[in-house]
Amino acid sequence: MKTEGERPPRFCNLHPIGTSEECGGCARAREHLEAWDEHAAQSDVIAAKAHDFERRRNRQLIENCPMHCAENSGMVEVLDDDGTERLKRCDHGVPRGVASNA
Ligand SMILES: [Zn+2]
Ligand SMILES: [Zn+2]
Repeated sequence: MKTEGERPPRFCNLHPIGTSEECGGCARAREHLEAWDEHAAQSDVIAAKAHDFERRRNRQLIENCPMHCAENSGMVEVLDDDGTERLKRCDHGVPRGVASNA
C-alpha cells in the first residue's frame, strides 16, 4: 500500500507557521502528520523489502542460470535473424509467466 498525496501540514489552517497558543486544530494536525509519517515509513519498508526480494531473486536466477548469463550480467548473446550477434535479457531458462519456487 502506498501513502497517497502530499505530506500533511504540521499545523492547522489558521496557524500555517504554528502558534504558541493552545490550538486543538494544530494538535490534530500534528497527530495526523505523525500518523501519516508512520504509515509512510511502513510503506517504504514494505516497498524496500519487496525490492530487495526481487533483487536477490534475480541475482539467484543469474547465478543458477543454465545459460551462464552471469558473465554478461544477466544478458545472453543471441543470433539475430540476419545472423548478427546481439545481447538480449536472459530469461534464465524460466519460461515466461511461470513462477519458479525452486
Ligand atoms: Zn492552530
Ligand atoms: Zn540467465
